[in-house]
Amino acid sequence: MSKFWSSLVSQLKPYVPGEQPKMERLVKLNTNENPYGPSPRVLEAIRAQLDERLRLYPDPESEQLCSVIATCYGVSPEQVFVGNGSDEVLAHIFQGLLKQDRPILFPDITYSFYPVYCGLYGVESQLVPLTGDFEIDPQDYLVPNGGIIFPNPNAPTGRALPLVEVERIVAGNPDSVVVVDEAYVDFGAESAVTLVDRYPNLLVSQTLSKARSLAGLRVGLAIGHRDLVEALNRVKNSFNSYPLDRLAQAGAVAAFEDEAWFNETRQRVMDERARVTLAMTAMGFEVLPSSANFIFARHASQKGADLALRLRERGIIVRHFDKPRIDDFLRITIGTAEQNDELLQALKGLVN
Ligand code: PMP
Repeated sequence: MSKFWSSLVSQLKPYVPGEQPKMERLVKLNTNENPYGPSPRVLEAIRAQLDERLRLYPDPESEQLCSVIATCYGVSPEQVFVGNGSDEVLAHIFQGLLKQDRPILFPDITYSFYPVYCGLYGVESQLVPLTGDFEIDPQDYLVPNGGIIFPNPNAPTGRALPLVEVERIVAGNPDSVVVVDEAYVDFGAESAVTLVDRYPNLLVSQTLSKARSLAGLRVGLAIGHRDLVEALNRVKNSFNSYPLDRLAQAGAVAAFEDEAWFNETRQRVMDERARVTLAMTAMGFEVLPSSANFIFARHASQKGADLALRLRERGIIVRHFDKPRIDDFLRITIGTAEQNDELLQALKGLVN
């Protein structure tokens, strides 16, 4: 390694993102995108921005978007923070709120960006093992800590904690910031946003990449006590402002204004999830109960890595993690009915 690399950079272990292959005609079920596409109103709103106003900087505070989100969730606009995807929102959270004297807690099997941010921002962490059923046990989070973060539903397991259990963690840690990463919450879990006015230590992050089908637009948000949001704005404004661009702001506003599209498409994903789960269970898979737009499943006799490889040979890409305890599992995004049929057909040929 070159002597010019600082010791910090040479020690970083960057996140390895899910593959975004360029080939056409792939059944792409590896990065939990929404198969149905965004609301037509989003496309219209973005097109309406395509004029000479692009020469102007966007609103650095994303005021209109924050107030639409606030109305949607019944909070005040000062309780809403937005960023370029929830990954950026989480980056600000790690940097600004989770660097404390004690290690932060998160599950040992979870979103693999958390350890990356810890490395980047010098945040100490302590991993909390999931239970034998791959669940988060709230009791394990009632110990001294410098902060807590977990996804609900968890990724890549898809398992969700009921709101009362989330509340146990939040209420049991009044001196720590508790971050609930709700990237997948709209597919059947209960949101902790309803708790933010009672718990000043709670911050909930969400994304428009999944249920609102806008992964390509990069919009994420956090909702919490106004002091926590003010802290995030300070971090954001310490980097040359980092606003959402004009198209992202306009598109995101339109996405929140089309509740009918949001509800219809997420219901379709949930219906398809139930169908795929039943069919795979009948083929000998154990499918963990999922509240997300993906399922996490292992076969009784086939290795996860082999199955992933053989699906790929048939043009179907799913996610496999080469990690202890979960290396027999596949994480499969719920696609359109046609994509799911192709998946089920291929699996039938492979496991029989
Ligand atoms: N949290 C979790 C648990 C995720 O799986 C993802 C998506 N990979 C994100 C956050 C980030 O999503 P985005 O940056 O697209 O909002």
